[in-house]
Amino acid sequence: MQQTLSIIKPDGVKRGIIGEVIKRLEASGIRIVAMKMLHLSKAQAEGFYSVHRERPFFQSLTDFMSSGPVVVMVLEGEDVIQKYRTLMGATDYRKADEGTIRKDFATDIEKNVVHGSDAPETAAFEIGYFFNRLEIVH
Ligand code: GDP
Repeated sequence: MQQTLSIIKPDGVKRGIIGEVIKRLEASGIRIVAMKMLHLSKAQAEGFYSVHRERPFFQSLTDFMSSGPVVVMVLEGEDVIQKYRTLMGATDYRKADEGTIRKDFATDIEKNVVHGSDAPETAAFEIGYFFNRLEIVH
């Protein structure tokens, strides 16, 4: 069993599509094993995205991610990292496949509704950033 971190970004929460994202997760057989809502500070957003600190969009991205509440979840299932990324669609919604979350709801390359870890090592870091062991159900 693999785990991954999902975030419904501030644009998704603001636009009222938390339920839509969760519906798609559940319909695809992915299990939610932890979930909470929080409003990241700028520093917390910078810590989360520290791998991107040299990228030109780092300031804008961390301003956006700290602009309103987010929903963070730990997802579990076989091959869930790839499976969830397939549900999300490409980073740039204009290049995302039909029927993906980003294709259907994103409005911008940055405001793309959802985040999902991209590898087991990043999933471990990202899950640990938000959840302790007692907050993840078994
Ligand atoms: P992801 O794994 O698909 O989320 O994509 P990345 O790890 O490459 O980028 C992290 C996040 O940064 C993306 O989800 C977007 O919100 C944002 N992002 C990526 N590329 C760009 C860009 O070219 N411009 C801006 N403004 N934001 C970007």
